[in-house]
Amino acid sequence: MHLSDNGSNVKNAGKSVVWEDNDFNFFTLIDGKEVFIGRGKEVPYPLEEGDCWSLPNGKTFAYKNGVLEHVKPLDEEKRLKECLEGIYEKFEESYLYSDPLGFVRKFDDIKDIEVAGFIAAGFAFGGVPQILKILDKIDKIVGHKFYEFALNFNAADGFKVFKGFYYRFIKEKDIVALFLILSEILKKYNSIESFFLEGYNPADINLKNAIISFSKRAMGLVDFAPVYGSAVLPKDSMVHFFFTSPADGSPCKRINLYLRWMVRNSDNLDFGIWSGEIQPYQLIIPVDTHMARISRYIGLTKYGNPSFKMAEEITENLKKLDCFDPVKYDFAITRLGILDLCKKSKNIENCGKCAIYDICNLNG
Ligand code: SF4
Repeated sequence: MHLSDNGSNVKNAGKSVVWEDNDFNFFTLIDGKEVFIGRGKEVPYPLEEGDCWSLPNGKTFAYKNGVLEHVKPLDEEKRLKECLEGIYEKFEESYLYSDPLGFVRKFDDIKDIEVAGFIAAGFAFGGVPQILKILDKIDKIVGHKFYEFALNFNAADGFKVFKGFYYRFIKEKDIVALFLILSEILKKYNSIESFFLEGYNPADINLKNAIISFSKRAMGLVDFAPVYGSAVLPKDSMVHFFFTSPADGSPCKRINLYLRWMVRNSDNLDFGIWSGEIQPYQLIIPVDTHMARISRYIGLTKYGNPSFKMAEEITENLKKLDCFDPVKYDFAITRLGILDLCKKSKNIENCGKCAIYDICNLNG
């Protein structure tokens, strides 16, 4: 309900106005924006000079000189950190069911984890139930032995086992090409990590250059003729979708997600099975639509659309909260969107219960 919808519930409070909807939710206008200020008895109406109250999420309002205002925390960065630490603690491993990472947790052998992880991250687009379904299908095809399957892979056999395969715009040729590349990496370098490290510079502030190198070298590693009938990739080939590059402006969400899984080891979410050469502070936040949207709401980015620049900006802002491990907040922030806790617009039911309400610009 908006102020103009029901004039009878509008109350004058000094120089401010307060109104109430039929569910006892109180609102006011602050800087021209409609702001939720509490439910029922949370709001000490009628307001008296000096009244001050906080919502359960910590957002605080004060009534001074006849004006109702949102008392911003003295230290916004501290508040941001408190809120994000709060959801980081909340969304721990019991929420892995809502993520492709939960699929990779089915593997014990680190060689399988490395390869299954790359496939799981690569297919991490679309809804989580669909992603998990296609990953289970691939798992059955490879006999739960991702490393061995990839290592011994050849295009002729690949076309037999992946006959009729598709997931959205990924067709059987594309998954055959993907396994062909992984096979070559494993034969020549023993692991995806060794191949990745060839383009890694420990002095770089982040992995941008290493990802550019990784994707470029991967796409030049095999002869695609047995797959696409031509050594040059046809325009409709989608294998490059698994090897995106910051050089094209892509946020490289799925590669950054994979790197997070392989490098971080400070909680029970990520595996951290790589050797330790890459430091967690060099990781870049995986930006999907949830991360982009919520990061805008809480002031982590000024960019509108997902891009590599946006990913770097969000990561740099998160480094102010944890300079050693900025991407630790990724899983928690994206749960708000994936679990539909945060709608795509202000929603009184969800926002009133939201753990990051106090830092969300969507709420004034
Ligand atoms: S306060 Fe509302 S809009 Fe903001 S992050 Fe929370 S649920 Fe989303």
